[in-house]
Amino acid sequence: MEIKRKPRWLRVNMEDLQKEEAVKRMLRDLSLNTVCQEANCPNRIECFSNKTATFMILGTQCSRNCRFCNVSHEALEPVDPKEPENVAKATRELGLKHVVVTSVTRDDLTDGGAGHFSKVINAIRAVDKEIAIEVLIPDFQGDFKALKKVTDAKPDIINHNIETIPRMYDKIRPQAHYNQSLEVLKNVKKLDSSIFTKSGIMVGIGEATEEVHQVMKDLREYQCDFLTIGQYLAPSKEHYPVEEYITPEAFKAYKDKGESLGFSFVASDPLVRSSYKAADMLETKSQE
Ligand code: SF4
Repeated sequence: MEIKRKPRWLRVNMEDLQKEEAVKRMLRDLSLNTVCQEANCPNRIECFSNKTATFMILGTQCSRNCRFCNVSHEALEPVDPKEPENVAKATRELGLKHVVVTSVTRDDLTDGGAGHFSKVINAIRAVDKEIAIEVLIPDFQGDFKALKKVTDAKPDIINHNIETIPRMYDKIRPQAHYNQSLEVLKNVKKLDSSIFTKSGIMVGIGEATEEVHQVMKDLREYQCDFLTIGQYLAPSKEHYPVEEYITPEAFKAYKDKGESLGFSFVASDPLVRSSYKAADMLETKSQE
């Protein structure tokens, strides 16, 4: 299979890599994981230098095996009871104004880890009442009670990535269900309409423009507030191959389409990832 060469707009500036070290050392000392490192995110240098990071809770091993994801799937780890306070400590030490907390999927846990999410949110709130808290959650296998544990902790934003078009689910996200993921976003609004919802799509895996537009319409039908659209990059040759590098012009067209459908904020750019420019979204909402 021919590995497509990355176009110029996807090349990262090497010089910044040194700036990453300080944050990595602090995270190691607090035995914390970030999705930035686990998912090899191209923006981590920019985010780390801007003192933002996305903490990954519930271990580094996932109970699922999505074909696009770099997270590993070895033996699932016990939940670390110290993690909530350690995330809160790191948030304070990094002086974050907007913190993002995500996790692997833990279908092995009765509530999918929802209770642990709520403990982390409350621990962060205990150290900083003003901080914006965004959680990027799994689908908790559609468990409404589990989701309520997270909404009861009142994060500012609940993000659940729809990831791709329904036609590609079997190929790249076989353990998830398109409609179940839409339901997660709808149920957040049902449980607490003051919480902003957000979702994200990767493009470049063979989707047609109309199919992406349809996903946007479905998300808006479920009152999703924010949307991120980024270029899929295969973490390795073993992962699902990149079909196409989408041009910056096409990303701009997606942004315009999303805004015309009523999303309050659309971050659409080749290097955009779920938490990229996360703080800007809330700011936009507060100016409305
Ligand atoms: S569920 Fe999430 S962390 Fe697990 S493999 Fe899929 S994308 Fe990766």
